[in-house]
Amino acid sequence: MIDLRSDTVTRPTPAMRRAIAESLVGDDVYQEDPTINQLESEGAALLGKEAALFTPTCTMANQLALRASTRPGDAIIVESGSHIANYESGAPAMLSGLTLIRVPGDRGILDPAAALAAAARPDDVHFAPSALIAVENTANLGGGALYPADTLSAIADGAAAMGLWSHCDGARLWNAASATGRSEAALVDGYASVSVCLSKGLGAPAGALLAGPRDFIKTARRFRKMLGGGMRQAGILAAGGLYALSHHRARLADDHARAARLAEALTAQGWDVQTPETNMVYITLDAPAALVAGAQAQGVRFSAVGRDRVRLVTHLNISDADITETIAILGALR
Ligand SMILES: *Cc1c(COP(=O)(O)O)cnc(C)c1O
Repeated sequence: MIDLRSDTVTRPTPAMRRAIAESLVGDDVYQEDPTINQLESEGAALLGKEAALFTPTCTMANQLALRASTRPGDAIIVESGSHIANYESGAPAMLSGLTLIRVPGDRGILDPAAALAAAARPDDVHFAPSALIAVENTANLGGGALYPADTLSAIADGAAAMGLWSHCDGARLWNAASATGRSEAALVDGYASVSVCLSKGLGAPAGALLAGPRDFIKTARRFRKMLGGGMRQAGILAAGGLYALSHHRARLADDHARAARLAEALTAQGWDVQTPETNMVYITLDAPAALVAGAQAQGVRFSAVGRDRVRLVTHLNISDADITETIAILGALR
């Protein structure tokens, strides 16, 4: 089965499994796990932030960022299709008492003027005060879309000028760095905090990092414990992420090339394809569920997204031959 549903389906490689098997571990609640400590310090350096915290998932990293930078009753500004607004089980309301202000973007990319205007709430007892603006880079529902550099800095600078926290949901920041040639640190320059996922395109079995100022990370560490995310010898998991940071970032360019080749071939077959900027190929069509079922019967899996799109995601376990076969199968179903 060729599985293009998501880059979360990646499995650890034999070399990653060896790194995991050989990892040194300790009790991370005592901050004595050497592998986690190394991952947190390498991660912080890579992201250009003072400190980082290992979390089981990127959802928890995002939610800790919200919890540690806002107060219950605050409002936060997010893009309408963002993961924080749509795919985190309503956690901002449940865990942090936040109101979401959803601002529609273009392909998931917030317009700085619109985002900052939405954040500019009158100082009036009727309104929940704005506390934070979040961007998502790459933007998943936007098609794995990339934030332009000037858009990123306009939002970060505008948020800072208004005294707001700025957070980047960088679950796929690695893909953005690969596609733009800019470093991860440069992509989140000016952002107070950033979350990154280790278990998507990077191929680790689990884990994410939240990075930001030292005192903020200290607060997030307490909330992580509160949520039951204080794990013990979790260096076993961190070892996969640490291995991926040095061995799986460069190869993301292959995923992007395969997505581009797939999109080009599908466009030539007459499908309505959004040109991919990274590792996601979205097709717009009338009956996504029927196409998903038809393709699955032929040996290729992908996901229906909403009422009129399907998503095909390239990743560590997808080869050139898999792309060739997918093109043939979708050609026959056209
Ligand atoms: C997958 C994803 C997350 C959450 O990551 P998990 O590790 O699955 O919890 C957060 N943000 C974005 C943009 C994502 O795509």
